[in-house]
This record gives sequence, structure tokens and C-alpha cells, in this order.
Amino acid sequence: MKPIVAIVGRPNVGKSTLFNRITRSRDAIVDDLPGVTRDRNFGDARWNDKAFTLVDTGGFAEGDVDAFAPHIRLQVEQAIEHADAVVLVLDGKGGSSPFDTDLIQTLRTVEKPVFYVVNKIDGEGQEKALFDFYGLGVDRLFPVSAEHGYGVAGFLDELTDGFPDAPAEDELPDEIRIAVIGKPNAGKSSLINAILGEERLVVSDVAGTTRDAIDTAFTRDGKNYVLVDTAGIRRKGKVSQRLEKFSIIKALRSLERCHVALIIIDAEEGISDQDARVAGYAYDRGCGAIFLLNKWDLVDNRDGKALKRMTENLRMTAKFLSFAPVLTVSAKTGQRVPKIFPVVDQVFAQYAVRITTGQLNKVMEKALERTPPSLHKGKRLKFYYATQVSTRPPTFVSFVNFPDAVHFSYQRYLVNQIRETFKLDKTPLRLLLKQRT
Ligand code: GDP
Ligand code: GDP
Repeated sequence: MKPIVAIVGRPNVGKSTLFNRITRSRDAIVDDLPGVTRDRNFGDARWNDKAFTLVDTGGFAEGDVDAFAPHIRLQVEQAIEHADAVVLVLDGKGGSSPFDTDLIQTLRTVEKPVFYVVNKIDGEGQEKALFDFYGLGVDRLFPVSAEHGYGVAGFLDELTDGFPDAPAEDELPDEIRIAVIGKPNAGKSSLINAILGEERLVVSDVAGTTRDAIDTAFTRDGKNYVLVDTAGIRRKGKVSQRLEKFSIIKALRSLERCHVALIIIDAEEGISDQDARVAGYAYDRGCGAIFLLNKWDLVDNRDGKALKRMTENLRMTAKFLSFAPVLTVSAKTGQRVPKIFPVVDQVFAQYAVRITTGQLNKVMEKALERTPPSLHKGKRLKFYYATQVSTRPPTFVSFVNFPDAVHFSYQRYLVNQIRETFKLDKTPLRLLLKQRT
């Protein structure tokens, strides 16, 4: 989990300038769009290969501190409660104020790391302005100029020193891995042969990650794809009457290694429980999924409604995969087989999406405002903030005061808001609710 760093302080000391400096600095890969909200501003930052989330608790009008004092104090308390480190910004130009002394008193009792930054020190000559602040009894002060950058790098070195190393960014998707699954005789090997039989493809077998796994790689329209665990299927001969159990183990294994699963259904037979089970594996694994209604050449479609009928049936049987597109194909005639690829690309693009903390929180705040969650035993459910913790599939964590009290339907509402806003209608997506301690 990325550490959260909260920036606190009086209005006008330079909190948002520092926030912007850190989230937009050369080495920080960030939000181009920090979510500017009334109270808080979130941004993703990276420094020395450590990733963290920065929260600016500013957002008050300038001027009368007294009018905002209770609000600021509340912000500081919340920041302390939810952050992993706190940064108090002081105004090196204006000097310290009684309010600062107050905040420092509060921060002294905190067990989390607290950093005291004296801002507006716009050059070495001005460090003498620091003397005023040593009287506050703080061990270590970081003189910086948020506006010009002076001192910020050194401060960030110290701030991030104890943070865990960020996991390596996922490599660019230089290949999309596809698994072909389905019950025996649905047409898996026919489909794979239809795909690979396209004359323009250059196909090669590549070793999979396990000893007996052989994948098939090819390039199509300049894009690289890998069909995982295909060799066995392609070479299947007379001995192929596999036990169902074995084919399921194989299906599970290929699901572990794919981005997108093509779930083959024998459309002539209709949708069976076994199809639902196979679909369930794809869902549990969290991969992208596409239903292929195969053997469409054999389907009686005289009234032109066969697709509608089967899709409805499929949506009922495999409700959980409602985001999986449905296509009709014929592996035997090759009909519409090339149409699978644009859909694979779309599903993958959504499956691998990254959404910045700022954008995500904007959507969450809007959703929470539009339809607030109901009370939990008379108490208000509070959603603090949300962040994307991983992708493939996109996985989000939202911090809540009582995660167990969030009704399933409300969680689904939030997921749907995320889906709608970011146009993620074709991918699995996870929203985890966590209590922050
Ligand atoms: P916030 O209310 O704490 O978020 O403060 P802001 O970031 O909005 O900054 C308040 C004012 O201080 C703005 O006019 C900034 O331009 C100015 N300011 C911020 N950082 C510096 C700095 O490093 N040096 C100087 N001279 N001015 C600064
Ligand atoms: P697998 O067990 O899932 O690999 O299925 P196969 O690819 O071996 O196909 C099982 C049977 O269905 C074979 O006899 C195929 O020729 C036939 N088949 C597969 N796809 C189609 C199709 O689109 N249309 C028709 N008519 N037959 C198909």
C-alpha cells in the first residue's frame, strides 16, 4: 500500500504550492489533474522510486485564520489519523504564529513521522529567517522554497527514506495474452486453428512459464498476441478424449497467465451449466473475458433473434460476467473470427487502465454527494479517499470508517459510477473497502 502523506498548516503558508511542486516535479510521475475539491486535494507522487499519495488539506480562503481555526484543526486531526506521515508547513516570510504553536503541540503527541517545513525561504541568504522558528522547539526544520524548488529535493529524500520501494511499473503491454477456454467439443482447437490459419500471420511456438506449457505467439496488424497453453490443444489427436477434470485444470492454469479469456460456447447446443462453471473460473481469476458463441453456422436464426435470445440466457446464467462482450463466430467457416481482435484490444485497454488518485476522488466525491450512503446505527458512514492500488484488473481501495457497514448495493453503485465515468464497461473491476487505522 502506498504511504499517504498529509500536508497541513495555516492558510497561505504555501501548502498547495508545495503540493504542486512535489506532484509535478521532474522526477515525480503524477496526476496531470489533481482533484481540486473544497477540502482536500490528492495527488500521486514518486521520488527515488518510492511512490506515495500526497494529500493537501488546504482549500480554505485566505485571511481570517480564526474563522477557519476549528475547521483547520479538524483537517489536521483527520490527516493525522489517516496519514502515514504528516508535513507541517510554516511561513518563513510571515513568521510563526500562535496558531502554529498550537498545531505543533498537537503534532508532538503523534507517533507518526512529522516533518516541519519552513517555506518561502527563497535562497540560502534567507535561512536566517529560520531562527524565529527554532524557538518553537522543533528538532529539525526543513527550509524550502515551494515556489522556486530550493530545498525540496533534500526534504523529499528524508520524507521518503523509510517508505517501501514502489513496485515496478507494469511493463508496457507489448503482448496481449489470450486464453481459450470452454467445455470439451465447444470448438477450442478449431478456433485456435482458425485464428492461426489466417495466412498473413507469422506464428511461432514459445515456451510458457512451466515446463510443459507451450504458448503460441503471433503478430496481427502490428500488435503482438500470445495464445497461452495452445500447443496441446493444437496437436490433439485421437488420444484427445481427455477427462473433463484434466481439461479444467488446464483451463485454470491458462487463466492464471492470460489477460483476456475467450470463453467458447457451443451455440448449437445452447448454454449449459458447464459453460457457467467455466465462466466462473474466468471471473474468479479476474481476467478480461469475451463470450464466443461458436458454431453459429449451425444455429437456427430464421427469426433473426437467436443472438438476443442466447445473450439473455447467458446474462442470466453468468450474471457475474455481465461486462464480458458477446460475439458470434464460426470456427469452422472462419466467419467473424477476425472480428474477435478489435474486441480483445478494447477489453485489454480497459483491463490495464490506470486512473490517477485525483481523478478517482473527484468521481467518488461526486457520487457520494449525489447519493450519500445511509446511516449505520445512527452514525454517518465516511468515505475518506480512494486510490487505485493495482491494475489488470483495475483494483481500487476506498477507506471508510465502517467498511463492513457499507451495503452491497451501495458498493455496486460506486463501482458503477467508476465504470460509467471512465468508460470501463468491458473489464472486471474491484473496489475494496478498507478501514484505515
Ligand atoms: P496555502 O493556502 O497554504 O495552500 O498557500 P498557497 O500555496 O496558496 O500559497 C500562498 C501564497 O504564498 C501564494 O501567493 C504563493 O505564491 C506564495 N508562496 C508559496 N510558496 C512560496 C515560496 O516558496 N516563496 C514565496 N516567496 N512565496 C510563496
Ligand atoms: P474442443 O474440444 O473445444 O477443442 O473442440 P474442437 O475444436 O475439437 O471441435 C469439436 C467439434 O466441433 C469438431 O468436430 C469441430 O469440427 C466442430 N466445430 C468446431 N467449431 C465449429 C463451428 O464453428 N461450426 C461447426 N459446424 N462445427 C464446429
